[in-house]
Amino acid sequence: MAGEQGGYPQLPIESPIYPPTLTPEQQEHLISTLTDYALAHGLIVRPTSSLVEHNPNNALATVAPVTLWPSTFPREPFLEALAIQQTCNELYARIAADELFLESLMLELSKVDQFMKRLWDIHLYVKAKGYKQNMSLGLFRSDYMINQPEGKIPKIQQVEFNTISSSFGALSTRVAEMHRFLWKIEAYPDTPVLDRASLPPNNAIDELATGLASAHKAYSAQGTHPDADDLAVLFVVQEGERNVFDQRWLEYSLIEHHDIRTYRLTLSEIPAAITIKEDGTLFCRPAHLPEDTLIEISTIYYRAGYGPDDYTNEEHWNTRANLEASRAIKCPTVLTQLAGAKKVQQVLANPTYLSKFLPDKKAHERIFNTFTSIFPLDTSPEGLKARSLALEHPEKYVLKPQREGGGNNIYRYKIPGFLKSLPESNWSKYILMEIIEPPSIENTVVRNGELIRGPVVGELGVYGTILWEKRDDGDVAIRENKQAGWLLRTKGTESEEGGVAAGFGCVDSVVLVD
Ligand code: ADP
Ligand code: MG
Repeated sequence: MAGEQGGYPQLPIESPIYPPTLTPEQQEHLISTLTDYALAHGLIVRPTSSLVEHNPNNALATVAPVTLWPSTFPREPFLEALAIQQTCNELYARIAADELFLESLMLELSKVDQFMKRLWDIHLYVKAKGYKQNMSLGLFRSDYMINQPEGKIPKIQQVEFNTISSSFGALSTRVAEMHRFLWKIEAYPDTPVLDRASLPPNNAIDELATGLASAHKAYSAQGTHPDADDLAVLFVVQEGERNVFDQRWLEYSLIEHHDIRTYRLTLSEIPAAITIKEDGTLFCRPAHLPEDTLIEISTIYYRAGYGPDDYTNEEHWNTRANLEASRAIKCPTVLTQLAGAKKVQQVLANPTYLSKFLPDKKAHERIFNTFTSIFPLDTSPEGLKARSLALEHPEKYVLKPQREGGGNNIYRYKIPGFLKSLPESNWSKYILMEIIEPPSIENTVVRNGELIRGPVVGELGVYGTILWEKRDDGDVAIRENKQAGWLLRTKGTESEEGGVAAGFGCVDSVVLVD
């Protein structure tokens, strides 16, 4: 992270130097206090196998990569990101409900992207059988970076919108609590930048769990099951997930605050554990329960299934299709997952489409204001223009496929060579997005006990929960719609990607500055 960085402008350092310089004694105290707090409060991940040789029963955990200090973030754009989240939720619920709109995009994408095609095919399969559930749950996250051209006020620009497996809600809550704790006990030396009003609360854990609970209750109210206490939520998870505690906290919140049980199963484990009745009711018997147990599942929450690597055999695809055809409420449905495709984000950057989904002029303006230029790379006139941009001015752009989970993008000067290595007929798989260059600030990243100080940039994520019902006429009835907390992920400026799980970044919290 150390060293000179091209591309990222330095934030003009205003009077108080932040973070303050630490004496060796202060640093030692701070890091040991942070480590114990993080371990004691579940701000943890499972260690990589390279870190530990002997780990019987998966008993070991390590502190999640975090920043030593909360990072400064401009107050107005932060509040704006929170304020527009419900509109974003509604926008994506409406897109997910608009089959014709999605079809128009998927018919083309399906020709070049096998993963998109398989998801779209699941929709067609379930549609032919008849959808058994008209309610959908979204646990979304809208990601932004700050853009601040010289002399202009800072504003948020959307990086992407996540409609499946939006992660780090729990760790982001815990890291904000930890930074606040360190400030309260004066583990940080005195600095005017930190005070109570500048460290905003973040209750993403309970908000996201409440979102799941609202789907659970809505399912129960649909009434075919006599006793809501016998229903449970199914978490579909990846095998060997290192970020498991981020998910566990949601389960603990569900049981503690809502009395709702959860079961965790991988796509491989599900076929042996489930039964689907003729009417679509989904029952589950995890292997540890007696054989005659049948637990009805109200809600399926996917923390897996967002990328092709999660489907390593046909059985996994069949499982996803069977779950989709069931009567449980899905978080998300296949259509909602597809609504989060980068292609959709690119099409929305066209104001005509955005106003179709957001007729309210003011709402439309606020959302549009967060968009940066995104182009198709197809053979439309706009696509052809973008192809020349990608080849002639790649330094301004990032190339993105229709994938989630980090590590998939191609940046700047790597774009032309990459494109040229593909047949041109495949270029339309990708979208071309203008690079956002947030101002860099100083911070220290703590990763596996090691401290790395240097210039960093942050990416703000805002969570949202929305429960909606698709009416027969195609319209959407919104039952619940909330902003559900936030996340700051921070990475060294030398890294293009910011994914924490992918090993590029760390979890952080904000200290608001004016
Ligand atoms: P994914 O679905 O893999 O998370 P993203 O669109 O979020 O894909 O891209 C991954 C990372 O790449 C982001 O977290 C961010 O650090 C970086 N990135 C993506 N788009 C941009 C952009 N337009 N400008 C600057 N950085 C970007
Ligand atoms: Mg992302």
